Amino acid sequence: MAKYFVLFGPPGVGKGTQAERLQKELKLAHVATGDLFRDHLKRETDLGQLARSYMERGALVPDDVTIGMVRERMKDADTQNGMLLDGFPRTIAQAEALDRLLAEKGDKIQHVLFVNAPKQVLLERLGSRWTCKQCGKVYNALSQPPKVHGVCDDCSGEVYQRPDDKPEVQEKRINVYLEQTAPLIEYFRGLGQLTEINGVQSVDQVYSDLMKAIERSGQ
Ligand code: AMP
Repeated sequence: MAKYFVLFGPPGVGKGTQAERLQKELKLAHVATGDLFRDHLKRETDLGQLARSYMERGALVPDDVTIGMVRERMKDADTQNGMLLDGFPRTIAQAEALDRLLAEKGDKIQHVLFVNAPKQVLLERLGSRWTCKQCGKVYNALSQPPKVHGVCDDCSGEVYQRPDDKPEVQEKRINVYLEQTAPLIEYFRGLGQLTEINGVQSVDQVYSDLMKAIERSGQ
């Protein structure tokens, strides 16, 4: 049976870093809606044009657009064994749509991994986060910079600061999370699907906690 995990948490908590490791271990398709939107931006598709205005402001792209994009992605062959969803769902409407999409395939979410950290920590991390424009790998300018300044270790792509990681948008994104996404915590908790993990630990410790939660969810 296919396995679907949701990696959930506020912006800057380290989902991208953890997803990269989890994906290798679990051998599931990593589906990050932020990455999908950034890919559309790069390719200058209609969807990218539409998403840009929302992303630049740190606002959420409308549910119907986001859900449609995920529905399309779920048709790809690499998702048939399951997915590690990252940054989706971000609203109750998206969570309900995901349930329906999975139910159509006779599947359901196996577990929601909620990585959490206080707002001050998130602001510090977002302020020093740099990202590869090409492959999306995440760096920290202070604690984990690329070996060569501005160049991705993995793919030699350009490492840049995402426009929405700049200070004027950071706070807005965290507030959008608190208002529109945080209600999902109780939603998933109510379904008995959620484990909360302390994101204020080393990358290795967070990863180890995530793996334990994943193992427990399969028992
Ligand atoms: P992220 O890379 O997950 O931080 O996402 C970057 C931006 O893409 C967000 O600030 C939103 O504008 C947009 N975005 C990503 N995922 C979603 C989603 N599930 N729903 C709506 N907008 C999203």
